[in-house]
Amino acid sequence: MAKKNDLIYGINGPIIKVKNTDSFFMYEMVHVGDGLVGEVIKINKEFTTIQIYEDATGLTTRDKVVGMKKPMGVLLGPGLIGNIFDGIERSLGAIKDIHGDFIPGGCRIDISNNENLWNVKILVKVGDEVSYGMIFATCAETSVVEHRFLIPLGVEGKVISIAERKEFKLTDTVIEVKNKDKVVGLNLLQFWPIRQSRPVKKRHSPNKPLITGQRVIDTLFPMAKGGCAMLPGGFGAGKTVTQHQLAKWCNVDVVIYVGCGERGNEMTQILEEFGELIDPKTGKSMLERTIFIANTSNMPVSAREASIYTGVTLAEYYRDMGYDVVMLADSTSRWAEALREISGRLEEIPAEEGYPAYLSSRLAEFYERAGNFTSFSDRESSITLIGAVSPQGSDFSEPVTQNSKRFTRCFWALDKSLAYIRHYPTINWRLSYSEYVKELEPWFELNIGEEFVENRKKIVYILEEEAKLLEITKLVGQDIMADDQKLVLETAKLIRIGFLQQNIFNDFDKFVSLEKQRLMMSVILYLYKKSKELITNLVPMSKIIQLDIFQEISKMKYNMPADCLEKFKSYIELIDQKLDSIV
Ligand code: ADP
Ligand code: MG
Repeated sequence: MAKKNDLIYGINGPIIKVKNTDSFFMYEMVHVGDGLVGEVIKINKEFTTIQIYEDATGLTTRDKVVGMKKPMGVLLGPGLIGNIFDGIERSLGAIKDIHGDFIPGGCRIDISNNENLWNVKILVKVGDEVSYGMIFATCAETSVVEHRFLIPLGVEGKVISIAERKEFKLTDTVIEVKNKDKVVGLNLLQFWPIRQSRPVKKRHSPNKPLITGQRVIDTLFPMAKGGCAMLPGGFGAGKTVTQHQLAKWCNVDVVIYVGCGERGNEMTQILEEFGELIDPKTGKSMLERTIFIANTSNMPVSAREASIYTGVTLAEYYRDMGYDVVMLADSTSRWAEALREISGRLEEIPAEEGYPAYLSSRLAEFYERAGNFTSFSDRESSITLIGAVSPQGSDFSEPVTQNSKRFTRCFWALDKSLAYIRHYPTINWRLSYSEYVKELEPWFELNIGEEFVENRKKIVYILEEEAKLLEITKLVGQDIMADDQKLVLETAKLIRIGFLQQNIFNDFDKFVSLEKQRLMMSVILYLYKKSKELITNLVPMSKIIQLDIFQEISKMKYNMPADCLEKFKSYIELIDQKLDSIV
């Protein structure tokens, strides 16, 4: 019989109270009723308050609450990659196979239910001294990711035994370590509390770009590996499509895609697409390096909060193995709304627009887990965090956008008015910024050439000039513009259409190497320079426009396979030939 004070005392949606205040601790995992997973979020003199991460419908005051004596956490081990989980790391694929489309309350099917045998290579010998973070074994988790098993935190000492076998289930003991009098057996599974970041040896400042193959990002607003970026945009502005593009193309080892509070069919779509897509880097399916976490709009709101922490904890786990990891969260606004809802039920005093006062510190705790690191396995690795933000009515002054801005250094502002004119990606070049430009310049100079950095500045300058001129033309019209001003407008248009716009459905254009980006810029700027010379020699701009050369260059992105970059020379020749014909 349960003691009376271990029964639910009060229920308010996903928030429950129990009178027992002695035997729980903060952030402890609890099981409620049929085993629904919850977390202790508040303890005071009278009550322990618990947030339930599953559908709480049907709970009554006769239901029991049991503390699990461990913090809310996730299981880590092989089998994560290629899988799809809910916010509390239940394996949705496996649940569907057994229970169909509905997740029964208290259902606990996670990676530990995986009966696979893993072919493990043990890297230590009996007698070796081991400590936290050392890699004691590896296995091929997928054909592209080697899973590296680290000595867990708190385990230190001599290896005293090694299993003779080659193949292991997740729960089979692989090695035993003796520390003083205590013997610890290590298997292929570990546990980690989701709210606590995993320790690292050292943090470094970001100095390498995250290459995305998207020109407006790589060239104009570059992102650093180990950095934080936000992607604000109103409904339909293109956040999800852009995040999918980043997940597909960015140059990392492991991608973690968290669908938080958005439509479920989008999650289905990305799963299907990724199943078919071939990763250009490895020639294998994208699923071989991707983990999905789905807490879509039809799933319990409270689990949205957990999904973000679960995602970033998995990111840290692979980071510790020495991998570059990117985590994409779509969308952090839905996560913040979950915080708001829970805070309301807790009757906390609301701050701006009803969000709790700790919104900002929660966002900080999340984004702080990004970075460039030396892990305890002595490997260089990184976590890049990219959060979509969905401000109501595209109003960027709302609290989630404003607070996220404080902790992210790349701001890719998605603009609905660009979506109206089908200018994709809709990243607005006037509103966006990247604070990584300066830090990444040395890398670009060394690896792509000084010209890349120089050309970028020129492109930015022309777009800025265009904006100023457009202001003026609004007042006085284009007719009285000087020819060099008309040339700026024409070139800026070419940059917008021929360079910033990118077609995700075109094979040559969906991913563009930095080398091709450099060459495209140089062709555009060559046309600009050469036209400017003509104008200085009093050739009228109207004559240059008649040549249709600007239009032709704007299509070069579609005529340039990645393996045939010499074609750029023919564009330079074409410019020479056409412009020289005027003279
Ligand atoms: P959000 O997530 O901001 O609500 P989506 O990313 O779902 O918006 O985009 C809405 C629609 O806009 C998509 O369904 C697609 O038709 C179109 N779209 C967005 N980005 C692109 C793109 N890069 N290329 C072509 N179409 C796009
Ligand atoms: Mg979306």
